[in-house]
Amino acid sequence: MKSYRIGIDAGGTKVAYGLFDEQNQLLDRFQHPTPIEADGPAFSDLVIESVERLLQKNGLIKEDLQGIGICMPSFILFEQGYVCMTSAMVNIRDFAMRDYLTQRLRVPIVLDNDSNVAALAEYRYGAGQGSRHMIYMATSTGIGSGLILNGQLFRGSYGWAGESGHMIITPDAGLLCGCRNQGCFMSWAAGRYIPQHIRQQAVGRQTTMNLGPDLDCVELCRSCREDDPLALEILEQTAHYIAICVFNIYQLLNVNLFVFGGGMVNFGPLLYDRVRQEFDRYNHIPQSVEFRFAQLKKDIGIIGAAELVREPR
Ligand SMILES: [Zn+2]
Repeated sequence: MKSYRIGIDAGGTKVAYGLFDEQNQLLDRFQHPTPIEADGPAFSDLVIESVERLLQKNGLIKEDLQGIGICMPSFILFEQGYVCMTSAMVNIRDFAMRDYLTQRLRVPIVLDNDSNVAALAEYRYGAGQGSRHMIYMATSTGIGSGLILNGQLFRGSYGWAGESGHMIITPDAGLLCGCRNQGCFMSWAAGRYIPQHIRQQAVGRQTTMNLGPDLDCVELCRSCREDDPLALEILEQTAHYIAICVFNIYQLLNVNLFVFGGGMVNFGPLLYDRVRQEFDRYNHIPQSVEFRFAQLKKDIGIIGAAELVREPR
């Protein structure tokens, strides 16, 4: 009976595995740190080893699997299961990962971008249930989105529809992003770049933030709660660019439900009330636009990845 599925979430710090049964119950989980230096074959071999271990521990064999879904923060040619590049592991480039894994595991494999997968999970089991259209906004170390249009995940021609973080807002200003362009939304408002903005703007100023190597969004959040002026300026800047990104997507697609997920939701109303105010400042038409927080928390990636296996395509 092929009734089990495995969902794998290969993120920037850890790779999480979830084993699901036919009723979509999470039976077991496993994780290991992300091998950030690994190339395609090395990473795939680690995935194979981990899958085999998870099956063995649960008294299952490969033939019990309906399939394996994998999500990564990557540009993936969806139909081909081909990884063009992934920001979590820079040495994985131009790699036919699905073919590599299928040849060795002999199990159906589906690969997709992490924001797409999170959108699928929230749409079916979280904050997007019951809606017709929904945009999932990942606000984390990176920024991205997943587009649910007419109840279906929209991937575009190749697979990277919704890469809103790399839409350019200030082509001649701002930081250089990993996408090799300057001034995309991600370079302004993603957690990965916030320490750089803080250090740039801290020159000649006083702040309660510790500007050492551990500077991150947690430190920013703490200082905002102490009304540190520099921290609040950075918060405003972050909210400003997230809001414009959301507003532009709203103009393009006219979807009235945005679900925010990713590590930055830990800021709570401190950040997202500002995003809302800023969005409303540009929106002059009274029809309602709803902002919600994602509901699925840390399992969102493995739930959505497992969902890929049974998604009608
Ligand atoms: Zn970019």
